[in-house]
Amino acid sequence: MTQELEQDCIFCRIAAGELGTAFVYESDSVVAFDDLVPQAKTHVLVIPRSHVSSVAAVSREHDALLGELVAAANSIAKARGLEETGYRVLANHGPDAGQTVFHLHVHLLGGNALGPLG
Ligand code: AMP
Ligand code: ZN
Repeated sequence: MTQELEQDCIFCRIAAGELGTAFVYESDSVVAFDDLVPQAKTHVLVIPRSHVSSVAAVSREHDALLGELVAAANSIAKARGLEETGYRVLANHGPDAGQTVFHLHVHLLGGNALGPLG
């Protein structure tokens, strides 16, 4: 389910500019910013401006938005010279994946060798 903005959602507030977060990328539909607790040299979160609760809430109505999120991650990775060394783009859903913020976001990780998944 997609909503314009959920007032109690921290990422909605970040996207709305309410917390003064510095964006490393922004477009009409997405914004990106450095993760508060980086897990790699580059750890950026790319989020839609509109509220989507998790990757599990994504359906075909979000085709264009998903394209924007991944294209933004690719653009940031390219700007940071990660194309050659590689990077990871991922989204967590639910407790086993460790999801802590319930507003869709993709993590862009790179700049150093990343551990195995899982
Ligand atoms: P996830 O575990 O996939 O839900 O990831 C949530 C991520 O959001 C974690 O890596 C947190 O460090 C990050 N995070 C939480 N609050 C903020 C914030 N205010 N600014 C930047 N990153 C945040
Ligand atoms: Zn939200």
